[in-house]
Amino acid sequence: MPGTSEKINKLHQRLDDSGFPGKITRDVPIAPLTWYKVGGNASVLIEVDNIENLINLKFILDELSIRWMLIGGGANLLVSDDGFEGAIVKLCGTFSEMQVDVDNTKIWCGSAVPLLNLVREGSLIGMTGIERLAGIPGSAGGAIYMNAGTFGEFIGGLIDSVDILASDNTVQTLGPDECEFTYRTSRFQHSDEIILGCLVVSDRGNPGEISAEIEKRITRRKETQPIEIPSCGCVFRNPEGEKSAGFLIEEAGLMGTTEGGAVISDKHANFIVNTGNASASDILHLMALARVTVREKYGVTLKPEVELVGSDDSLEVILDARGKKEKT
Ligand SMILES: Cc1cc2nc3c(=O)[nH]c(=O)nc-3n(C[C@H](O)[C@H](O)[C@H](O)COP(=O)(O)OP(=O)(O)OC[C@H]3O[C@@H](n4cnc5c(N)ncnc54)[C@H](O)[C@@H]3O)c2cc1C
Repeated sequence: MPGTSEKINKLHQRLDDSGFPGKITRDVPIAPLTWYKVGGNASVLIEVDNIENLINLKFILDELSIRWMLIGGGANLLVSDDGFEGAIVKLCGTFSEMQVDVDNTKIWCGSAVPLLNLVREGSLIGMTGIERLAGIPGSAGGAIYMNAGTFGEFIGGLIDSVDILASDNTVQTLGPDECEFTYRTSRFQHSDEIILGCLVVSDRGNPGEISAEIEKRITRRKETQPIEIPSCGCVFRNPEGEKSAGFLIEEAGLMGTTEGGAVISDKHANFIVNTGNASASDILHLMALARVTVREKYGVTLKPEVELVGSDDSLEVILDARGKKEKT
């Protein structure tokens, strides 16, 4: 069985032979591509600028059985200190385009468009509901994958359709029901489909009022979240019930707890921030500590929202194993 490095050599050769125009970078640090700024290298980073090139790449990755993953804005990723053995695929070019239909309050949005740009464009044409996405970092594709949102309002509620590259490398269009949007969840979290773009539609509201609401929400974020320090936003999903994950971690007295360069923020307890030199392991340690402490005190098992990149074990398995060590 050829090893990853040999397979990546073959991939590189095949892409070169097919005249692939995208950028290919070997043994590349992933930390700078993420908001957390931690973790090791990927075997290869491949930037793809249009659908034909993406399909070509996908065929070769499948044929060579190379592990791959998409990266959007890197706002919800914790990269393991060992990095990622495989190909990181980043969409750019035509995937960063938007087509705005002012008359019908519709935007076709490529998956690599920064969510911020979609929010700004949507507010200009009076898209009601677009304010729910104000201040959420990352790309449109990542937001659909995560069904990103705030206060019970998610991107899924604004989606008319999503274009995908399906597992069999055909382009398909899904309706919102097919995307299986629920709290911080979509079908894409248990498929290997690539989100190409989406059609966002809403009723028309007053652009001035929507912009004002956006600014209000961004200001509230600055007041309540440590957004100036590298993080992934909330590390845990909110459990069902009235109490948020942040509230439970705060009540458990863990705010300000440190491990290496990582700290449970004293501004928002569901944020574990990287104060400069944190490793992924430091962050995992604090996640495990929060999970085991909250479970012991309140009988609630917190589920991770952040995704761990580069480990064969699931994040929950890793946290449970670390949590057990924490207790001994
Ligand atoms: C300061 C801060 C505040 C935050 N606040 C919020 C908040 O209020 N609400 C909220 O919901 N989230 C919040 N987040 C988390 C994050 O912004 C969201 O999860 C965001 O939607 C992630 O998008 P991304 O493009 O960065 O995805 P990435 O982190 O790059 O990737 C996340 C997952 O999406 C997959 N993915 C990305 N693009 C595609 C694609 N085109 N096709 C298929 N899969 C894809 C990746 O493979 C990965 O599995 C916050 C993060 C930070 C750092």
